[in-house]
Amino acid sequence: MASDFITNWNNYPREKAKVSSPVFAHDFDTTLADNSAFIVRGNGRCYGDASLGASVVSSLKFNRILNFDAVHGIITCQSGLLLSDVLELTMPKGWFLPVTPGTRFITVGGAVASDVHGKNHHKDGSFSQHVIALKILTPAGAIIHCSATENSEYFWFTCGGMGLTGIILEVTFSLKKIETGFIKQVQIKANGLDEVLDLFEQYSHYTYSVAWIDCLKTGSNFGRSILMVGEHATVPDLNGGRQQPKKSITLSVPFNFPSFVLNGLSVKAFNAVYYGKNYKREMHGITSYEKFFYPLDAILHWNRIYGSRGFVQYQFVIPKQVGKVGIRDILTRISEKGWGSFLAVLKLFGTQQGPISFNMEGYTLALDIPINSKLFSFLDELDLMIKEYGGRIYLTKDARMKAEIFHSTYPNAASFTTFLNKIDPEKKIVSSLSTRLEIK
Ligand SMILES: Cc1cc2nc3c(=O)[nH]c(=O)nc-3n(C[C@H](O)[C@H](O)[C@H](O)COP(=O)(O)OP(=O)(O)OC[C@H]3O[C@@H](n4cnc5c(N)ncnc54)[C@H](O)[C@@H]3O)c2cc1C
Repeated sequence: MASDFITNWNNYPREKAKVSSPVFAHDFDTTLADNSAFIVRGNGRCYGDASLGASVVSSLKFNRILNFDAVHGIITCQSGLLLSDVLELTMPKGWFLPVTPGTRFITVGGAVASDVHGKNHHKDGSFSQHVIALKILTPAGAIIHCSATENSEYFWFTCGGMGLTGIILEVTFSLKKIETGFIKQVQIKANGLDEVLDLFEQYSHYTYSVAWIDCLKTGSNFGRSILMVGEHATVPDLNGGRQQPKKSITLSVPFNFPSFVLNGLSVKAFNAVYYGKNYKREMHGITSYEKFFYPLDAILHWNRIYGSRGFVQYQFVIPKQVGKVGIRDILTRISEKGWGSFLAVLKLFGTQQGPISFNMEGYTLALDIPINSKLFSFLDELDLMIKEYGGRIYLTKDARMKAEIFHSTYPNAASFTTFLNKIDPEKKIVSSLSTRLEIK
C-alpha cells in the first residue's frame, strides 16, 4: 500500500499515511491482525491530528443502514455513514438528528468518538446521550456490545475517546421527532459580552442557541454579538406553506487563497457587515434547517480561504461560575493581539456526561485563526489562562496543545490512560493526537 499526504479539515498538520478502506467487518479483523499501529478515520472533519497517523483505516465505505424504526425513531447503522445520509432517510419520515454539529458531513462513528455537541447541549446534552448501543472491535480482536448500562466503562470511554478504544463498527441511536424541515428562529443583537451571556440565560428555554461574536471589537462594544435561538417549526407555524425546504444551492472555493486575503482588516470589515445586517434588536423568522444548522456547508471547501498553511480552530470551554470573567479575559487577550477570526462562535453547555468528553457546564468559544509563525506560542499562553479558569480545550479541534495541558485539564485523563493501557497493551491503536498528548 502506497503512502499519501493527508490532512483534516483545517489543513494542518499534513502527514504521510498509508490509507486502507475496508468494506466488510472482517476486513477490520485483517487490519487488526497486521502488526502495525493504526487509527480509524471518518470523514476527516476534525481540525487537527485525531484521525491522522502512519496507518489510517477509513470507515467511509463501511456505511450501510442496518435498521430504521420509523415508528419509534431509532436507527442502527455502520459507523462510516454520514449524518447527511441519515437525514436524507429520516427527515421525510419526521425524524431529525438528536444532536448535530455545524456540518452534516461527518460520520456517525466520528460523532461518537468526539462525542459531538450541537446548539442544544444545554437542553439535550451531547451525541452520546442519544446512543442506545455500540458494537466495537476491540484492540484485542474481540467484538464488544456496550451501552450506558452494558459494559458501561467501555461505552463511556469510547464516547469522546477519539477512536482510541477500538473500531466502532455499528451505532444504534435515537432520533428527534419533528413536524417540518424548518426552524422558527429569533436573532437578538447584543451590544457587548456581558449582555450576550445574560441573553443566553434569558433565552435558555429555547432548544437551540448560538451566538456569533465580533472578537475584534474593542471599547464599549467589546464582545458585541448576535444570539440566534430556535425551535423546530410546527405545521401551523408555516401557515399552510411547504413543510420541507427546497435543497439549497452550494458554492465552492476553487483553490487555497493567498494568505494576505485574510488579514485583520478584511476580518474587521466582514464583522462590521455581518453585525450591521441585523438592523433591528430582535428579528423573528422561519428558516430552513440547512441554513440554521449548516450555514457553512453551503460553501464547499470553505477551508481553502485560510490558504495552504491552514488554520487552527481554537475551541475551549470555561466553567459557568467563572464564565463571564474568563471569556472576557481571554477575548481581551485575543483582541489585543488582533488575531483575526471570521468565525467566533459562542455556545452554552449543560452538564457533562461522559468522563472523557469535552463538554462541561459553562460557555464554549470557538475561533478560527490562520496559522502563522507566532500563533502557537500565543495559544500556549491562552492554554494556561484556560487551565487557570478550570476550563479545557476540545480534542477534536486540537492540533497543537501540549500533553501537560491535556493531562492537567481533563480530570479523568489518568483513568482514561489506565483504561487504554489495559485494553490495548500492545498499542495497536495510535493516532498522532494520542502520541502528541501522551495518552497511551
Ligand atoms: C464546519 C465544521 C463544523 C463543526 N461543528 C462542530 C460542532 O458544532 N460541534 C462539534 O462537537 N464538532 C463540530 N465539528 C467537528 C466534527 O463534528 C468532529 O471532529 C467529528 O468527530 C468529525 O467526524 P468525522 O467523521 O469527520 O471523523 P474524523 O474527523 O475523521 O475523526 C474524528 C475522530 O473520530 C474517530 N473515529 C471516526 N470514526 C471512527 C470509528 N468508526 N471508530 C472509532 N473511531 C472513529 C477518529 O479516530 C478521530 O479520533 C465541526 C467540524 C466542521 C468541519
